[in-house]
Amino acid sequence: MTRLTTIDDERRNIAELLRDWPPAAVDAIIQEMLALWNAEDLCDRICWRWNSRLRTTIGRALLEEMILELNPILLGRNPDEMRGVVVHELAHLVTTSRYGFAVAPHGRQWKSLMYAAGESARATHTLNVDGLRVKAKRRRRRRKSAVEAFIARFRGSL
Ligand SMILES: [Zn+2]
Repeated sequence: MTRLTTIDDERRNIAELLRDWPPAAVDAIIQEMLALWNAEDLCDRICWRWNSRLRTTIGRALLEEMILELNPILLGRNPDEMRGVVVHELAHLVTTSRYGFAVAPHGRQWKSLMYAAGESARATHTLNVDGLRVKAKRRRRRRKSAVEAFIARFRGSL
């Protein structure tokens, strides 16, 4: 069932999410998982942050930077997914650091970490993303401005 979410609902969801998941709580999951996976050596290299610009992606792993990003809007709507998403994205970082960038993102190495963590090894979510998709026109504009920003930065460094 879908329903329209008001801005107030969304704000309340996010406020509750941030209250229930202070940084120490997220850090604790990361530490627990790294210990479980014998990957504690990665602890100092891995960072995580909320990214409110994520749209229909609930979380993502920036493999080169070793950063885990979480979507506060989608997780605010689905707080029960929080632990699973942190574990899912963290498993990507651990898999890549162990097996390199050529490893299949949701292949057996990643799946074995998920099973060890007692989490589902599904690759995608089927959550309500009403209102979160970016309209084509807006996406084009954003891409152009990102290019412009890149060019400006490049120019500035010359
Ligand atoms: Zn994934």
